[in-house]
Amino acid sequence: MSVQVVAAKMAEVELKDVPTGKDLPAESPLTPTSEGKSLGRNDPHEAGSSAAASPTAEPSAKAGEGSLGLLAPNPAKMPQASAMKRSDPQQNGGEAFVNRDGTVAEAPRMKKIQFADQKQEFNKRPSKIGRRSLSRSISQSSTDSYSSAASYTDSSDDETSPRDKQQKNSKGNGDFCIKNIKQADFGRREIEIAEQEMPALMALRKRAQGEKPLAGAKVVGCTHITAQTAVLMETLSALGAQCRWAACNIYSTQNEVAAALAEGGFSVFAWKGESEDDFWWCIDRCVNVEGWQPNMILDDGGDLTHWIYKKYPNMFKKIKGIVEESVTGVHRLYQLSKAGKLCVPAMNVNDSVTKQKFDNLYCCRESILDGLKRTTDVMFGGKQVVVCGYGEVGKGCCAALKAMGSIVYVTEIDPICALQACMDGFRLVKLNEVIRQVDIVITCTGNKNVVVREYLDRMKNGCIVCNMGHSNTEIDVASLRTPELTWERVRSQVDHVIWPDGKRIVLLAEGRLLNLSCSTVPTFVLSITATTQALALIELYNAPEGRYKQDVYLLPKKMDEYVASLHLPTFDAHLTELSDEQAKYLGLNKNGPFKPNYYRY
Ligand code: NAD
Repeated sequence: MSVQVVAAKMAEVELKDVPTGKDLPAESPLTPTSEGKSLGRNDPHEAGSSAAASPTAEPSAKAGEGSLGLLAPNPAKMPQASAMKRSDPQQNGGEAFVNRDGTVAEAPRMKKIQFADQKQEFNKRPSKIGRRSLSRSISQSSTDSYSSAASYTDSSDDETSPRDKQQKNSKGNGDFCIKNIKQADFGRREIEIAEQEMPALMALRKRAQGEKPLAGAKVVGCTHITAQTAVLMETLSALGAQCRWAACNIYSTQNEVAAALAEGGFSVFAWKGESEDDFWWCIDRCVNVEGWQPNMILDDGGDLTHWIYKKYPNMFKKIKGIVEESVTGVHRLYQLSKAGKLCVPAMNVNDSVTKQKFDNLYCCRESILDGLKRTTDVMFGGKQVVVCGYGEVGKGCCAALKAMGSIVYVTEIDPICALQACMDGFRLVKLNEVIRQVDIVITCTGNKNVVVREYLDRMKNGCIVCNMGHSNTEIDVASLRTPELTWERVRSQVDHVIWPDGKRIVLLAEGRLLNLSCSTVPTFVLSITATTQALALIELYNAPEGRYKQDVYLLPKKMDEYVASLHLPTFDAHLTELSDEQAKYLGLNKNGPFKPNYYRY
């Protein structure tokens, strides 16, 4: 079914049943519990704390519809056919947040972020060398979060800092700072290609356009600036929002896409290869502008939120909510909330099922092979691979490698995940049992020092070593920087580390996220996450006063289901409808939600 048909079908949906705040039961999944925790969320940093894990947290059928009733289709009328930034918590250092009243508070144990203004003024240009070294010290959320990182434009021809350039788009607008506006046509093609794999956003765009649910919204965003983000931004704009955007990662901006956005009238401040100073300057340019104040934040990693807390706390008086995608940023928000310092409601998109189960599992299942192939041209059939960690990412990697005929071993610390690995047909081993024989080592734990020098010493000649976890701490790369070992850069992001006896290992992306550094991630997965972000913005922006307190919330389950349903037509998938009798038997509303919040999928 074409997007047009899908959109037309969706347009049939009744929009008048918009639930109001009073529709929400006192203890809905959107209402914080008396302990100040929101039902329906699992704080990964508070073992055993989740109210969501309790069957008592199961929402009523009405609960959790939120303002998104505005967009939610009646699944009975939904098309039946052809349709439709984690951090290593151990790495966090102390950080200060500025409260609304201007006092400085001790914030969560986050990796230290150095604010540019503490050392440099924005108008001072760091030297080229300075830029490089600064970029090494930027926060992990800014350098290691995962998304499509590829930029197909070689911008090395122009060494001038975008900050030193005066550029205007064809309409004479110069409120942006990007590498080169002349790349706009190329970027537009990239965006159009991405649109084809982002059916839900395109459908949402068409369907809600008449409604303009974001009319009056002024969204300041800080995410990867890629073709997929551009589709999201243009969707938000079609829904009525004004957007100003900076990059959440100094390497991941697609310059041509930024150019296309600037040409289209978006105020974008980002380019590939920013220095740390540039990074904060760009964020500041998004926020600190005369005659424009944001009323919504869309963040990936928490740096933008942090910046506003730090520099412009008064802005929170007008901000209606924060939508945060990454583990890092969500962790910060929960810490703020726990300390009673969160000034506005926040939506935790990271823990939406449609983000976590798809981004982590399916994204990695596809991109692990891409990253390995692009860097090494390795043949997978018959190769012995050890995957450390059998969580969502590990499961994705193992499945892909197994399908290619690799012999896959798994290491785990958690007996449940270990048992899953066994039941899935993988040999569960300790790393030291197989380290001499394997051809490829992949870390997916989110932990530190999983592959230490002792193991690196014992690997066989030619062994490929890489990381799919968020931070670059899983492989002890620092231990390889010793005089007796020789490093040879053989390709971009590929180093041979050579031992005195001639043995060499192949280290990819210096132990950083392989798929972020060396390949792209599938657009379709990003579509799912981006749709969740868009709906979270709409929900927070339209929620009646009092529905959301100053706390962190999960997107209502029904919206998770809605995001999934919007992607089904791509597969010509035919969803079964509950009969009245069945719905009654199961105690469900025919239109969902179909699962309690504690359901694990
Ligand atoms: P997860 O918590 O589901 O899985 C991690 C697993 O590693 C857990 O089962 C844990 O028990 C295990 N583990 C921890 N320490 C270990 C050790 N020393 N040895 C063996 N196993 C160990 O997390 P996840 O969703 O699979 O994510 C894993 C990492 O990947 C995170 O850092 C996350 O931010 C990152 N991530 C990457 C991508 C990407 O595109 N590359 C996408 C999503 C998440």
